[in-house]
Amino acid sequence: RHNLESIVVMNNDATMNEGAGKFNGMTREEARKQVVAELKELGLLEKIDDHDHAVGHCSRCNTIIEPMVSKQWFVDMKPLAEPALKVVKDHEVEFVPERFTKTYVNWLENIRDWTISRQLWWGHRIPAWYCDDCGETIVSREDITECPHCHGHVTQDPDVLDTWFSSGLWPFATMGWPEQTPELKQWYPTSVLVTGYDIIFF
Ligand SMILES: [Zn+2]
Ligand SMILES: [Zn+2]
Repeated sequence: RHNLESIVVMNNDATMNEGAGKFNGMTREEARKQVVAELKELGLLEKIDDHDHAVGHCSRCNTIIEPMVSKQWFVDMKPLAEPALKVVKDHEVEFVPERFTKTYVNWLENIRDWTISRQLWWGHRIPAWYCDDCGETIVSREDITECPHCHGHVTQDPDVLDTWFSSGLWPFATMGWPEQTPELKQWYPTSVLVTGYDIIFF
């Protein structure tokens, strides 16, 4: 809101980094205590109050989640949403029950870009490489072994695709797309999509 610089103050292991200044190297719990102590010492602490709010926890190990600014890959959704809206408005695609049309239209008209990169060990790797020499980012359908610009050494992005992106690829990857194979025609006619409330959440 105030155009302040975003500073990342934590390492990936949730210890404080050099962005945290004198709190560098501390755990976040320790750093929080030290920040309060420091504010007190400087006479800048007005009061300490209890405050109820929702704190995100890891679904697997219950660790408290810390928000962090990071670089991610996004899908530009507008060009995908537009034809998807058109076929519904033109009644080429019908919703059953019909009342879901409104939610769908509302969702796609206010669509936001989709973050598709995940920092996990398992999944489809993002098909992007970075040149260690000229710094170029290369996105390629085929795996590459050198930079097409300077023949330098390239390193593939360690991130993987969002599970929903991967599962969307599955029928295409297994049934011969982009060829119009008999398998695709038989098993993936896309004439009906049955889906759950929670999935087509809009
Ligand atoms: Zn966890
Ligand atoms: Zn290069």
